Amino acid sequence: MGMTMESPLATALSQLRGAIDQLGLSESDWQTLSTPRRVLQVAVPLRRDNGEVEMYDGYRVQYSTTRGPSKGGVRYHPDIDLDETIALAMLMTWKCALTNLPYGGAKGGIAIDPGTLSLRENERLTRRYTSEILPIIGPERDIPAPDVGTDERNMAWMMDTYSVNAGFSVPGVVTGKPIVLGGSLGRTSATGDGVAIATREALRVKGIPIEGARVAIQGFGKVGYWAARAVENMGMKVIAVSDVNGGVTGFPSVTALWDHFLTQKNLDLPGADRLTNEELLHLDVDVLIPAALADAITEATADKVKAKIVVEGANGPTTPSGDAILHDKGILVVPDILANSGGVIVSYFEWVQDKQNYFWSAGEVKTNLSEILMRAFNEVETTATNKGATWREAALMLGVGRVAEAHKLRGLYP
Ligand code: GLU
Repeated sequence: MGMTMESPLATALSQLRGAIDQLGLSESDWQTLSTPRRVLQVAVPLRRDNGEVEMYDGYRVQYSTTRGPSKGGVRYHPDIDLDETIALAMLMTWKCALTNLPYGGAKGGIAIDPGTLSLRENERLTRRYTSEILPIIGPERDIPAPDVGTDERNMAWMMDTYSVNAGFSVPGVVTGKPIVLGGSLGRTSATGDGVAIATREALRVKGIPIEGARVAIQGFGKVGYWAARAVENMGMKVIAVSDVNGGVTGFPSVTALWDHFLTQKNLDLPGADRLTNEELLHLDVDVLIPAALADAITEATADKVKAKIVVEGANGPTTPSGDAILHDKGILVVPDILANSGGVIVSYFEWVQDKQNYFWSAGEVKTNLSEILMRAFNEVETTATNKGATWREAALMLGVGRVAEAHKLRGLYP
């Protein structure tokens, strides 16, 4: 596969290689675990509102189905390609194993900028993509969810397209749905809530008081916004946030910023100060939360990071060379597969509720999310200490090790 040194796939493969070596697994384990099980590329024709038809590339990668049906989001982003989808599906596999969810890992996407779509265009695109991947998804096979560029509206259309073809309602085919269609309470904020729990625990480990801890967050979307709210509710101070157009600092509260963002669609809050995304990464804070896209913390940007803790809200925000620099600087990195696992954990709850047709209270969701995340967090902390490993290495060893063990126990057919 053609890849530059630090493409998301190269990063994911190098992390896997490290885990295989640290676990003392064999060359054949490496081959088994570094190969996606099923890769589907589809053409997605889109009829624009003006009648023109355009073609877009769509993907669905089922990286692993060893521990259960595959699971993972659908990303709409102009830069998504097959390699990146494979990388993200691989991360989902280790994430679900680390948190002990009964799933393999998957990811899907369409190479398109959703910002260019009208609501109706988005609906047609989503329905056609769903129809193209229909043969390989389903509540027992592969369960999509939101990711960058998609939300509960897309999940409603996916659920409807699948259900119309089945002839009856199948809410369990996707998670991250609106509540009225069988979504779960607490799913919208789940990834951010999990990031906040991971942040709180990391502060505890580092002996930094939670009250007043200074936090900078790159990204103000489905992860960043809810993480900002949750850490603020825990008593931390959100110093700066950013979106694709840059960052802002010196605002009174996350709520004030959000109210402005919702109405004005930008972060130019009167009285607050603008800063670049790069300046945000280099702020003198206790915690830096990259919650946007991959490749935020690289060889070029890592050196000037002043935070004591980095909590990865995004998938793959740190490149291996960036990671090495953070490590040398003594910065604690809470890796993506642990830090942002709150989303898929509550997706799991949603799927369970859909299967049982019995819905939980917000309190139950919150308690169970915290329990699963804390268990994984403590296992990572203990493993890192016992093996003298970084937290990323420890998290990967736990996730990869569980998938490898499941492979061995299932054996090879025929
Ligand atoms: N897209 C989210 C992630 O990367 C959630 C996936 C899911 O809920 O299945 O973890």
